[in-house]
Amino acid sequence: MRPLEAERSNLNCFIIIIYFNLHKKTDLLIQPCKLDHSITISSGDHSLIQSAKEKQDRESRGRIGTAIRLHWEMATAGKVIKCRAAVAWEPNAPLVIEEIEVAPPQEGEIRIKVIATGVCHTDLYHLFESQQKKGFPTVLGHEGAGFVESVGPGVTDFKPGDKVIPLFISQCGECRFCKHPKTNQCDRNWSSKRYDVMSDPTSRFTCRGKPILQFMGTSTFSEYTVLNQIAVTKIRDDAPLNRVCLLACGISTGYGAAINTAGVTPGSVCAVFGLGAVGLAAVMGCKNAGASRIFAVDINEQKFEKAKVFGATDFVNPKAYDKPVSVVLAEMTNGGVDFSLECVGNTEVMRSALESCIKGWGVSVLVGWTDMADFSARPIQLISGKTWKGSLFGGFKSKDCVPKLVHDYMSGKIKLDEFITHNMSLEQVNDAIKLMKTGECIRTILNISK
Ligand code: NAD
Ligand code: ZN
Repeated sequence: MRPLEAERSNLNCFIIIIYFNLHKKTDLLIQPCKLDHSITISSGDHSLIQSAKEKQDRESRGRIGTAIRLHWEMATAGKVIKCRAAVAWEPNAPLVIEEIEVAPPQEGEIRIKVIATGVCHTDLYHLFESQQKKGFPTVLGHEGAGFVESVGPGVTDFKPGDKVIPLFISQCGECRFCKHPKTNQCDRNWSSKRYDVMSDPTSRFTCRGKPILQFMGTSTFSEYTVLNQIAVTKIRDDAPLNRVCLLACGISTGYGAAINTAGVTPGSVCAVFGLGAVGLAAVMGCKNAGASRIFAVDINEQKFEKAKVFGATDFVNPKAYDKPVSVVLAEMTNGGVDFSLECVGNTEVMRSALESCIKGWGVSVLVGWTDMADFSARPIQLISGKTWKGSLFGGFKSKDCVPKLVHDYMSGKIKLDEFITHNMSLEQVNDAIKLMKTGECIRTILNISK
């Protein structure tokens, strides 16, 4: 037996000792010398427990999990947590690392310790493009994963220590949208009320005496966050949080836009406009759906190499031609593509993607996010038999589907690792934002907590 972790509180009154035997059985001993004080397991110790947890056999798994849960419940439940977060005080300004207060979860809510989060273009949209001053101050981030720290009254499906993904699109399971098979637009989502502000009016965050909004109801650029249980999903215990966090937005969005919303068919010809993580995931969706040709379209040719990894077969830089990209694609495909997906968030590109489809049956899907301008097209585009659609979170019903997508990653059906080009700390969040702005990254993972 070899001691893995042993720590004594300052008060010297309560010791937790965990013995971990790599070769035989794992065992866990909790020795309460006195019961009226609690111990703090530091974050470094927690990572040790976590790595032990990942190696242990089935029999012992529950017992280590119990220790972690025990610690969390004892240390912070019911209390305000002070922690680090990247606060966006105003549009067009760098985020500021601050100490914020995170209130305990209320009825039906869950407080989550965020372990890792991706940085998505929608965070940049809110910060730089939306020009929506009312949506500040806020904590951005909506592509995270972590552990349940504590739960509010009435929460029965989650317990401290569960691995979870916060969802920017909820699934209450009861509204008419949740009950309808054709949509994932839960009526109790933050977006039902305030698309412009991009947050729920209620927030459990304060900083320097001011309430801080929770962007897209999630706010994963923080060590702790609080969500309603309808916007959290539990995932399998062995999922690596610094990978599967990407399923909270970009990858599910692009992948689902291809397989669900567009309904890409075997043997079809597709074009994906914009090769960030969302577009590359759309390429992956087209490939998994059996497309025979996948055109990868981007003004940044450095993205083409990566697009090959996900299954793109042809590469087009619209700037390299003196005619519209729709004409270029029509010439290369005998009249246009069967499916096109716009993954940029630019109304001109949306139009080009529609015009690139073949008449009669072509389907074009808007995936890129913008609410800043009207889009336009000649009516003949639709009269001639094309379909123009949009996709939010890839059409996936979030609570049900994200755990399944985690399985798909763990079984090798979908890729995640290949999207990650950079790993950084929360303190480097402004560097991560800059990398996306300049097109130098696909996804940066911010490692928030251990
Ligand atoms: P990203 O910034 O990483 O990628 C955008 C890509 O588009 C870049 O490679 C860029 O070079 C390319 N691009 C820019 N202008 C172009 C043009 N004129 N023609 C072709 N390509 C062009 O962004 P991302 O994180 O992949 O997100 C893509 C879009 O998807 C954003 O608008 C984001 O807000 C949106 N989004 C939508 C949903 C949803 O549910 N619908 C969810 C997540 C993200
Ligand atoms: Zn996103």
